[in-house]
Amino acid sequence: MAQHLIIMGRQGSGKGTQASHIVEKYGVVHVSTGDMLRAAVADETELGLAAKAIMDSGGLVSDDIINGIVAERFDADDIVAGGSLLDGFPRTPDQAKALLDMLGSRGESIAAVLNLDVPIEEVTSRMMARGREDDTEEAIANRLGLYEDQTAPLLELFGEKGLLVVIDGMGTEDDVFGRLCEVIDARMEPQP
Ligand code: AMP
Repeated sequence: MAQHLIIMGRQGSGKGTQASHIVEKYGVVHVSTGDMLRAAVADETELGLAAKAIMDSGGLVSDDIINGIVAERFDADDIVAGGSLLDGFPRTPDQAKALLDMLGSRGESIAAVLNLDVPIEEVTSRMMARGREDDTEEAIANRLGLYEDQTAPLLELFGEKGLLVVIDGMGTEDDVFGRLCEVIDARMEPQP
């Protein structure tokens, strides 16, 4: 039975890099709702056209739309066989509930919610160091604040369910990946 992982982490936490290592080692399918939406915007699909303005303003695309695209993606054979690494989803308690309901009806489970923890001061200085024009200290603080507000209820929900594991995201890429593997190996049933 497919098992699923969720990865969470502030912008600048190294989440994207670690997600690709996890996908490579464990054969789970990377499901990034942000990537799916960006692809829809690039293809100018109906979804993309509706999502673009919301994404540009930093808001959240509606739960119904997001739950619909995830449910559709989960019907594909690769996920049925290999499980997934969810990235950027769930973002709201409603999405979390929809996910848990969907997995429940499939007889599948979440092996762990991996929360990659890099302190706010550190991610701020990493983003400032990139020197991008939209990365003023104020804009960064705003984005991080929004992220904290959005994720707090999810962390609480997954914590209550015993699924949440906080992983120290400081140190080298290898160090952090080693910590992630320890948790995944302990929580994910080996696949035949
Ligand atoms: P991300 O790459 O995950 O930061 O996503 C980029 C943008 O896509 C976000 O700022 C949202 O506007 C939208 N988005 C991605 N995932 C979700 C989601 N699970 N729920 C609502 N909006 C989302």
